[in-house]
Amino acid sequence: MSNGKGISRCRVRTATITLMATLFAIVFTLPLTETFGAEGRAKVLYFTRQQGFEHTPTKLQDDGTTVSGAALTKYCDARNIELVCTQDGRVFDGDIDQYDAFVFYTSGQLEAAHGSKNPTAHAISSDGIKKFFAAVKGGKGFVCIHSANVSSCSHKDDKGFDLYTKLVGGRFLLHANMQDAPVLIVSPVQLPWLKDKGDTYMAHEEWPTFTDYNPDMHVVLVQETAGMTGDCYNRPNYPSSWIRMEGQGRVAYSAFGHVDAFWQNDENVRKIGEMIEWTIRRFDMDTTPNFDIVTPLGNELHQPKTGKNQR
Ligand SMILES: [Zn+2]
Repeated sequence: MSNGKGISRCRVRTATITLMATLFAIVFTLPLTETFGAEGRAKVLYFTRQQGFEHTPTKLQDDGTTVSGAALTKYCDARNIELVCTQDGRVFDGDIDQYDAFVFYTSGQLEAAHGSKNPTAHAISSDGIKKFFAAVKGGKGFVCIHSANVSSCSHKDDKGFDLYTKLVGGRFLLHANMQDAPVLIVSPVQLPWLKDKGDTYMAHEEWPTFTDYNPDMHVVLVQETAGMTGDCYNRPNYPSSWIRMEGQGRVAYSAFGHVDAFWQNDENVRKIGEMIEWTIRRFDMDTTPNFDIVTPLGNELHQPKTGKNQR
């Protein structure tokens, strides 16, 4: 008969072996989507200065947070990402090397001094914009949300084209009333949240239209214009969410996020959060340009709608 101590040691040893085996099994059987948050801590800057119309998810609350900032912070906290939220563009004059990625939910000219309803918000300086461009080109991530590709800057290419628009990959043009509408899911599906959605995803959103697409993008979601209400949708199908490379940096745009209700739903926040995780290299996606294949008439603004078959 063993005394209580021996039994106890034996049980501990057995339990330890069982625990190690279980941990081994967990580590080596978890799918990628559940492990890509386990990497080292990352730091991301969330910039939400808006001019003119202020989207409520970016409106500063009494406690100093925003609805979208709080939602993204919750997502990021759970994935070992520190999210720094600000509406003060002077941050780009400081040390931006500390950030792994930048997320913008802005509107208006990024360097314009006036126009924001938040008196503590400040524009980005001309030099700050240049630093931001260089940082992304050098390998930092950039995620652009909803109205953030309304924004522009003073820096142009040799043809006079806005370098910020070129970086994002397209410019927000118009929208009609919020409505239910489908976005077509481009194959092969790469973002984890899209993998069980089939060919089409229906959502209630203020759907932007875009112009000045950079055709070097990889389209992720296509706006299906057939059946949409509003003159601005009287055009062929066009990219609604996309990714692209800027030098060594990963860039992503998502049309989602107009209202607070979007951000108050964890499944919706995941749509933006996964783009952030892609830009900080938590997982990979194919960025081969496909604009001309899936949306060959995407830059046409006033053409007949193309119907359901094109994507
Ligand atoms: Zn909006």
